[in-house]
Amino acid sequence: MTAGSVGVAEADWARAVKVLDGADQVCLACHIRPDADALGSMLAVATALSNRPGRPAEVVASFGDEPFALPDILRFLPGLSLLRPPDRYPPRPAVMVTFDAASADRLGVLAGPAEAADELVVLDHHASNTGFGTINLVDPSAAATAVLGAALLDRLGIALTADVALGLYAGLVTDTGSFKFSSTTPAVHELAARLIATGIDPGVVSRHLYDTAPYGYLEMLAAALGRAVLEPDSAGGLGLVWTTVTRADRDHGGHLPLDAAESVIDVVRRTEEAEVAAVLKEDDDGVWQVSVRSKELVDVGAACTALGGGGHARAAGFSAPGRPSAVIAALRQQLAASP
Ligand code: MN
Repeated sequence: MTAGSVGVAEADWARAVKVLDGADQVCLACHIRPDADALGSMLAVATALSNRPGRPAEVVASFGDEPFALPDILRFLPGLSLLRPPDRYPPRPAVMVTFDAASADRLGVLAGPAEAADELVVLDHHASNTGFGTINLVDPSAAATAVLGAALLDRLGIALTADVALGLYAGLVTDTGSFKFSSTTPAVHELAARLIATGIDPGVVSRHLYDTAPYGYLEMLAAALGRAVLEPDSAGGLGLVWTTVTRADRDHGGHLPLDAAESVIDVVRRTEEAEVAAVLKEDDDGVWQVSVRSKELVDVGAACTALGGGGHARAAGFSAPGRPSAVIAALRQQLAASP
């Protein structure tokens, strides 16, 4: 059984397999500020390739954040030893593979090596993908890049082992909202079954990703929820709910990293009076990293793309400096314009 071939031509899979089978060195990269789908998929494929007898001789994996900081909640993923900081990444790879990045600029400082690579294999499931590879394995109907990662390994004839499956499972869980989103197809559960059959513990994944936080998280969450605003008339009358997580909130919580604020959106978006939810998270440079979600009607991917970000119809984001009121005003305007 092969997973997730819809939307990618067999000829493209075959070209990717040929390139990877013939490579002495494979350089992998995922999008900056990686989530579990980006990092989990990349490390799974990196681990699978490095365990393969014979070729490739060397596997390099990285992401283009400087400083190079691994999100704390992803430190349980296998394959971290294959990571190296972007300043030690080959500037002109013969074969490079990207994960979950919709465009070259999502690779941060690794956009340079991607442009210079002889072969650039792009593995992604964003509808907004620009097709920046020499081989584009892009399937917007795939629930996660992890689905495409599994499909690639199937075609390379690499069997799934537990250390490979855990990263793919983490990506699948994250991008399907723990199998709650509408993207949770029978194929998603079939892949999940294959991954769990390798012996991984799904409880470990959800505990690391969702069910563990320091006490300070409660204080940060309380502050953020305490200033939530409901705008019933926004988003074409479908309703917008939004709030902020400031640097001060994270500091009061005991110097929490930005990724500790990642799950706040999952509480805020429950608001039944609002089709759209947004959380403005202030990063360490004072820039707002905005997460936007919708329930079933508004294409927040289009709205965020118009604001210089990107994502999917129901889950997207963008970055903006300035005052929160100005940032939310820009989003409000885009939501009013979108269908
Ligand atoms: Mn993804």
